[in-house]
Amino acid sequence: MAKGLIEIKNVSVRYNGTPVLEDVNLTIADNEFLGIIGPNGGGKTTLLKVILGLVKPSRGTIRVLGKSPAGARKYIGYVPQHNLFDRRFPVNVMDVVMMGRLGSRGIISRYSTQDRELAEQALRTVGMFDFREHQIGELSGGEQQRVFIARALVSQPRILLLDEPTASVDPAVQTEFYELLDSLKERMAIVMVSHDVSAISVHVESIACLNQTLHYHGPKEISAEVLEKTYQCPVQLIAHGTVPHRVLKEH
Ligand code: ADP
Repeated sequence: MAKGLIEIKNVSVRYNGTPVLEDVNLTIADNEFLGIIGPNGGGKTTLLKVILGLVKPSRGTIRVLGKSPAGARKYIGYVPQHNLFDRRFPVNVMDVVMMGRLGSRGIISRYSTQDRELAEQALRTVGMFDFREHQIGELSGGEQQRVFIARALVSQPRILLLDEPTASVDPAVQTEFYELLDSLKERMAIVMVSHDVSAISVHVESIACLNQTLHYHGPKEISAEVLEKTYQCPVQLIAHGTVPHRVLKEH
């Protein structure tokens, strides 16, 4: 197999002795769009934190761009599940995006013209340039989400990690959001965590099912059996139009 952008080998994680990840193996290639699905508590966020070097495995190895995760962090854009951010805080969109430059220049240095140009470019990429002077708190959930993605893009990452990005946005906005990701994957690998099987399985190229242990599936490989094993509950496959959707049955 070709060398991956991210190589996770035999990784196990324990929190206070309780196993959360067990012998996880995963290779993520450049420009891959991988969805990680699984039930709540299955270890998805923990796996992202392992990739970021924020959680240390009790066993196994992880290399990101051939480096330790902490050493490669500046090449990773991360959009966390809950932005620890008071949305009433009086700060404008441009300032929020510029915060994404802090990792590259440190907290004491002043922002340069280049920082500003990169922030403007990131806002154009996500279609939010015209909102740059707006207060973040004035924006809708979908618009805020785009701004947080721009903040992750401003360091020009090779890898974009998204944790449950569609949790708080309505279906119409989700479609635009996936179109944005489609345009971004030309430039970077994207790893998106979600418990929403139906949305994710239509858009990603490969899927990893995670419930303490991980099962990787390339395109077209995913089946009802595979999903049921991960969720330990019945899954229904339905199709409308040309696009298959996968949903969880009532249980
Ligand atoms: P997911 O993202 O799939 O919902 P998480 O990775 O957030 O799963 O959590 C996996 C398990 O680890 C859960 O049981 C959660 O309660 C536990 N957990 C997560 N973070 C910590 C922590 N810092 N300390 C102890 N337990 C944790």
